[in-house]
Amino acid sequence: MNGNLEMVLNVAIVGEGASWDEDNDLLYWIDIDGKKVHIYNPATKKDREIDVGQYIGAIVPRKSGGAVVALHNGFYFLDLESEKLTFICDPENDKPNNRFNDGKCDVRGRFLAGTMPLDEKDPTGSLYCLEVDHSVRKLISDVTISNGIAWSPDNKIMYYIDTRTKRVDAFDYDVESGNISKRRTVVKIPENAGGPDGMTSDSEGMIWVAHWGGWQVSRWDPYTGKQIDAIHVPVERVSSCVFGGVNLDELYITTARRGLSKDELKKQPDAGGLFRIKVGIKGMPTYKYAG
Ligand code: CA
Repeated sequence: MNGNLEMVLNVAIVGEGASWDEDNDLLYWIDIDGKKVHIYNPATKKDREIDVGQYIGAIVPRKSGGAVVALHNGFYFLDLESEKLTFICDPENDKPNNRFNDGKCDVRGRFLAGTMPLDEKDPTGSLYCLEVDHSVRKLISDVTISNGIAWSPDNKIMYYIDTRTKRVDAFDYDVESGNISKRRTVVKIPENAGGPDGMTSDSEGMIWVAHWGGWQVSRWDPYTGKQIDAIHVPVERVSSCVFGGVNLDELYITTARRGLSKDELKKQPDAGGLFRIKVGIKGMPTYKYAG
């Protein structure tokens, strides 16, 4: 680490799902409970809010302009000028008590996003792939809280977090077909370090994991399973991280204040804040939806 952690904003209930639009140097992020998309411009330090009217789990930029969001009721295009939502599809329209959670695009522009039950109890969630032709495919079943997704720099390995497992699992990833295979565990989160939530990867092939309930973002070598580093965050519920900045060497970190009592909020007044730290390592870019 070669920088200090700074809080850039504190406006969210459950800040989450950060992604970086490298063409426009903008950070897209969301507030799940606030049902909002946020777009932060580091150059002007202005944060724009778009109300989406439903729980939101993820936002990714779209190659042809605008964005794609995964909402409580499915996938939608979001026009960032008119703020209009256009429904694409809902693979779980038979499961009103599930909502979409975290998601990310692969290098070919497929949008992978997973679901979870609102009560976080049973493994009724799945990981889906929104193909560039707008069809949807299920990749993983029996998920409780579908969360972080990341790829190795050569795109041959996909990393995946179901928070309840307290693990990061890896799959072989076939970039031509988008198929996954050979599931194995590469990282086990230690006891008393919270649950793994959002995740990103860097140009050295290492993975960065946000700890919900663990006051940190940790950096791991997925080839040895060893922890390399940690960034202490002054908030218990650390939810996601993504590389941004013009050199892709700044880590943006989202946090949450959902469920904290008045006393707990006094101890962590920055809960819900959006943080940034220059880490001196180049991250993997945020890929855009190609459909
Ligand atoms: Ca999450």
